[in-house]
Amino acid sequence: MNCDALVIGGGPAGMMAAGTAARNGLSVWLLEKNAVLGKKLRITGKGRCNVTNACDVRTVVESTPTNGRFLYGAVSQFSPSDTAAFFESLGIPLKVERGNRVFPVSDKAADIAEALIGFVRSAGVKILRGEAKKLLVEDGRVRGVELKDGKIITAANVAVCCGGASYPGTGSTGDGYLLAKQAGHPVTPLRPSLVPLTAQAEDAQDCRDMMGLSLKNIAIRVTDTKTKKVVYEDFGEMLFTHFGLSGPVILSASAHMRNMEPGRYRVSIDLKPALTPEKLDARLLRDFEKNRNRDFSNSLSELLPHKFIPVAVRRSGIPPETKCHSLTREMRRSFASLLKNFEIGIEGFRPIAEAIVTSGGVEVGLVDPKTMESKLVHGLYFAGEVLDVDAYTGGFNLQIAFSTGRLAGNSMRREEVEAKG
Ligand SMILES: Cc1cc2nc3c(=O)[nH]c(=O)nc-3n(C[C@H](O)[C@H](O)[C@H](O)COP(=O)(O)OP(=O)(O)OC[C@H]3O[C@@H](n4cnc5c(N)ncnc54)[C@H](O)[C@@H]3O)c2cc1C
Repeated sequence: MNCDALVIGGGPAGMMAAGTAARNGLSVWLLEKNAVLGKKLRITGKGRCNVTNACDVRTVVESTPTNGRFLYGAVSQFSPSDTAAFFESLGIPLKVERGNRVFPVSDKAADIAEALIGFVRSAGVKILRGEAKKLLVEDGRVRGVELKDGKIITAANVAVCCGGASYPGTGSTGDGYLLAKQAGHPVTPLRPSLVPLTAQAEDAQDCRDMMGLSLKNIAIRVTDTKTKKVVYEDFGEMLFTHFGLSGPVILSASAHMRNMEPGRYRVSIDLKPALTPEKLDARLLRDFEKNRNRDFSNSLSELLPHKFIPVAVRRSGIPPETKCHSLTREMRRSFASLLKNFEIGIEGFRPIAEAIVTSGGVEVGLVDPKTMESKLVHGLYFAGEVLDVDAYTGGFNLQIAFSTGRLAGNSMRREEVEAKG
């Protein structure tokens, strides 16, 4: 055996698993195909890294719509407060922001990545550059890994921590699913989550016309047109793009659109959530009065962003050259209601490569939630996004990587090697 444990993937799950196993006295090799460890980690939270959420175990489970309960054991053993204590012990002070989101005080994701690398190195993990191609499995137990260049690494424990299939430029190219399948593990269908949305054809031109416009302090409501139920409401920032909608509230909303099909969901944007319909009507009345001899389309620049005005005017059906003094009360009220309920029909998700997380993955029914070990292949472990678990925004996805990585690392056993002599 080359080592007691080989961890494939130097992301947050893999680094946590490797460092933990090494601290427990195992000889551990960490295999990463990129030149740097934690490439994706370094771009998380817009480069600030929302490292966890200051919440209890139950909230993490409830914020994980796919197989949250599978995580109970892992998150109980390494909870958000353990994550916070872990990074503070590594010299990274943390702060809590809106929605209990936890960030490094430095606002630098690289600090989190470097702290994890320090943890791995100081635990004595050997870091190798290379790409795992095939798991070696014999008589129901793992023996090691074959690399792309043909080299063989033998190990009694192997942890697959290859991440998902999103942002493939960071190294997460879906290799973990192939490795799992080779070992006989079913992989549930992959789909994007926390992902931008494409607009339906009839609204696509409006989105294109407003491309690049970022709306801050707006409210959104997402309705399922089939069930007529509101599936998501939020307040914050969004962005119009050449294909449709993006930005923080849209990415969050996407995780709640579980039955995506063309036209199934509609996003309603309230551009003036701080104003009741009556207050907005009064505001419009004042603006139109002030501009009474100007064209309707030239009277809106104090109320609305520049790029939004032509689209709103077009959708209102009011001829743009109508003088403000001749706008009727009905016109004004229907315009106010347009601003409180600006709808975009949704065609679908953008591709998985553009998603913050991959939904779907290694089926959890065949992974022991108490250890993260495969129920099919002895000594084989899974941790992180490669598993069929995905959570909402808020630091939960990294917490899942840390908790499952920690549990896998703690579950790997030296005896496996000793028993084999
Ligand atoms: C833009 C963006 C922002 C995000 N922001 C946040 C945030 O603020 N908070 C949050 O909680 N989550 C965030 N996420 C999600 C979070 O980054 C992931 O869920 C998390 O990184 C998953 O960790 P992981 O270790 O399982 O996988 P990854 O981080 O994907 O790491 C997997 C590693 O395995 C390596 N690898 C893959 N295949 C092989 C192979 N065959 N051989 C060797 N190495 C291999 C890859 O190169 C990679 O380094 C964000 C994601 C993105 C894309």
